[in-house]
Amino acid sequence: MMMMKDGVSDMTYKTTADIDTDIEKLKIKISKLETKKKQLEGMTLSQKVAEILHDKYCYHDHTESCSWLYESWEFPGATRNRYLIKANILISTILDSSITKESKYISDEDLLKFIKQILVD
Ligand SMILES: [Zn+2]
Repeated sequence: MMMMKDGVSDMTYKTTADIDTDIEKLKIKISKLETKKKQLEGMTLSQKVAEILHDKYCYHDHTESCSWLYESWEFPGATRNRYLIKANILISTILDSSITKESKYISDEDLLKFIKQILVD
């Protein structure tokens, strides 16, 4: 059976059991998305930017030399705090720069999109 990109099987030869399997997979996916959404809603802009910076620039082994995964935003340690400082510097630099100075107000969401564009896309 051919699997589609979302992990759900091709609709051509579906049985009800196939559909039940697909429904279960999608429920798991929805649950993961809801968890991620809740997590993001509880994060500050600086924390979101710190996560982008860590994803992009940390090349350490995450089982030994980087404690990112052992820390959390609820209990940040030296690693997360270091990236938080970098995030705050980046945010301040962008807000003070001529790139965004033209617009009187830039929302956190737009600022995050901008940072993703320059760092990730
Ligand atoms: Zn790391």
